[in-house]
Amino acid sequence: MKYTTKALHSKYPTKDPHGALRAPVYQNAAFEFDSAEALEEVFTGKKSGHAYSRASNPTVEELESKVKYITSAHGVVATSSGMAAISNTLLALLKAGDNIITTNKLFGHTLSFFQTTLDDFDVETKFVDICNETAIKNAIDENTKIIFFETISNPELVIPDIKMLAKIAKEHNLLLICDSTMTPFYIFDSKKHGVDIDLLSATKYISGGGTTIGGLIIDNGNYDWSHYKNLSKFSEKFGKNAFIAKLKKQVFRNMGACLSAQSAYMLSLGLETLALRADRTKENVKALSEFLSKHEKIRSVNYPNLEGNRFQNEANEYFLFAGSVLTFDLASKEEAYKFMNNLELIRRATNIQDNKSLIIAPYHTIYAEYSDEEKRSFGLREGTLRLSVGIEDIEDLISDIANSLDIL
Ligand SMILES: *Cc1c(COP(=O)(O)O)cnc(C)c1O
Repeated sequence: MKYTTKALHSKYPTKDPHGALRAPVYQNAAFEFDSAEALEEVFTGKKSGHAYSRASNPTVEELESKVKYITSAHGVVATSSGMAAISNTLLALLKAGDNIITTNKLFGHTLSFFQTTLDDFDVETKFVDICNETAIKNAIDENTKIIFFETISNPELVIPDIKMLAKIAKEHNLLLICDSTMTPFYIFDSKKHGVDIDLLSATKYISGGGTTIGGLIIDNGNYDWSHYKNLSKFSEKFGKNAFIAKLKKQVFRNMGACLSAQSAYMLSLGLETLALRADRTKENVKALSEFLSKHEKIRSVNYPNLEGNRFQNEANEYFLFAGSVLTFDLASKEEAYKFMNNLELIRRATNIQDNKSLIIAPYHTIYAEYSDEEKRSFGLREGTLRLSVGIEDIEDLISDIANSLDIL
């Protein structure tokens, strides 16, 4: 079966007593048991069951099992946000003295988590050019544990050679972890491409329409946890389940970053239409990137599936399409702002992969706290606009952009 059939017809972990055709929202904190013994069995792990919603909840479990079924992953943990998925995973895997290798072209709060939070706990982050095999290999030492990358960075839209990263990780017994928010599992099969742990902000493409903050931790089952020293106690006891067990029994439970039942329900709904929405944006973003690249007032367009883009080969090799985000340049901040303010349909807002098309000037907003020099090193320019292409009718999107460019 393919994506949408699976998303619609995955089986509930537990049959609903009323036969509800959609798993209900269990909006409650605690669960009761028929006997003291039954309560003990769940607490000691002899029987599976729900006791308290910070640790597990039926609606959240339904979402997790859906994702597991769709992705053929080994295990899935849903979290309260994308940042919770990232922070819980790294805190479960790293100890003081360890280091990780990544790039500085990262989602801003991920970059901040590495530079400040992990640094406070004596975990070093080595920032290298993630497309440069030699630079990555040179950065590896005996304390390196993880290579972390984003499938497509935003807003620069850099796509690493994932095959090369998987090969290095395997040769050096490192974990390969990706943030696939820009290209969730309908668009990118991380398991097939050698990624060990796939993290994503479900807030974006999964939620659909920007309804919900949430995150997903996906253990693809590619990595043999008995080779990972920091988890040796868990791997002796839980085998293939070592990482999920460490999350569930320690880090995730102790940090309290659980997803609410209502949010899980919304994300579960979003999962069912992900492919429909993605197929639609695939067409829209293709038409828009081609329109923009031919327009005389646009200086340059960056979208990896565009002819001649420097990451065109990677985009074709790894992804169904390169996601819904493109950037383009106008001559100056003044022009960019005038263009934005002329738009009548496309909304001025942050966030990506909403059903609505959203536009923002990253240089002056998302990266406002960085110096001009740093921003240039991230590849940003004053007249750069980021457009997250939605599912509107393409004629209306093109005419909104064309009209706004005409007035410039
Ligand atoms: C939005 C985003 C996050 C953080 O997700 P939240 O759900 O907002 O916590 C992480 N990585 C990427 C690439 C994102 O776009």
